Amino acid sequence: MQPNKANTIDLHSHTRYSDGSLGLIELMQYAKAHGIETLAITDHDSIGAHLELAELKQKQIEVPELEVVSGVEISTQFGNREVHIVGLGIDIQNEALLQFLKQQQAYRRQRLLQYAAKLAQVGIAGVAEKVDNLSAEALTRTHLSQILVEMGAAQDPQRVFKRLIGRKGKAYVKAEWPSIEQVVRIITGASGIAVIAHPGRYQLNRKQLRELMEQFSAAGGEAIELSYPNAEPQMINWLAEQARRLSLLGSQGADFHNPEWKWLKPGFFPVLPKDIEPIFDRLNIRRQ
Ligand code: AMP
Ligand code: MN
Ligand code: MN
Ligand code: MN
Repeated sequence: MQPNKANTIDLHSHTRYSDGSLGLIELMQYAKAHGIETLAITDHDSIGAHLELAELKQKQIEVPELEVVSGVEISTQFGNREVHIVGLGIDIQNEALLQFLKQQQAYRRQRLLQYAAKLAQVGIAGVAEKVDNLSAEALTRTHLSQILVEMGAAQDPQRVFKRLIGRKGKAYVKAEWPSIEQVVRIITGASGIAVIAHPGRYQLNRKQLRELMEQFSAAGGEAIELSYPNAEPQMINWLAEQARRLSLLGSQGADFHNPEWKWLKPGFFPVLPKDIEPIFDRLNIRRQ
């Protein structure tokens, strides 16, 4: 595996429509400034950024010169884990997709209020009012962690996740996300390609990862992220072997959220493993 390099194609990023800190145009400018030529915007359960971009183009308002791939990142349930599936090249006018995302957004707001109730039980009151004031389309635990840091419940978001709202935290609320099959069906139904996001981040063992990839592939999923920041080379080599066996395409992305997270920049991750077919051609992206 090669060391990190500035790739010009980045297929995973977030805006303020979910838990990113930049607006659409700011993100496009920021990605461009980091040498990106092709960027997929993949907000959690929201395509608001793509609808905004389409509207700007329709009104012939000038936007930064950058190839933007339509995308979304959808949370699903895999056993007792939350696994993220990215949809790339989706049709942003697909009715079933729009309807589904609306439901996910409503559930996300309700889920953060469940967290607020559980936090009150462990002595942290007043979170619900702050959740009510959030304006993002898709509310996430990132928003919750920011609220809790501001309230002084912990020093930084990582500690909030560890102590309170992560899977082993004392105020964790078990999510009820849709199945992998349902999410793949929604993405492919909207002409998109389904991609397993950051497979090394779920704390799954190899047997569980193999099951995840097989279930995903059987459901019609076609790709997996094999290049992202801090991915373990040994794990990536093993995942690449499984991907070849299942004929999954390789995708890549920094999962950029916020310029303040200095260790994470658009385009900065290793190149895809050799012998893996990149997803680029299927999305009509020029090869870098
Ligand atoms: P949600 O989709 O509401 O479960 O929120 C998940 C988001 O929280 C992820 O996309 C990350 O941006 C963020 N996140 C997850 N785990 C951590 C962590 N340990 N520290 C900081 N942020 C995290
Ligand atoms: Mn996120
Ligand atoms: Mn994710
Ligand atoms: Mn993401």
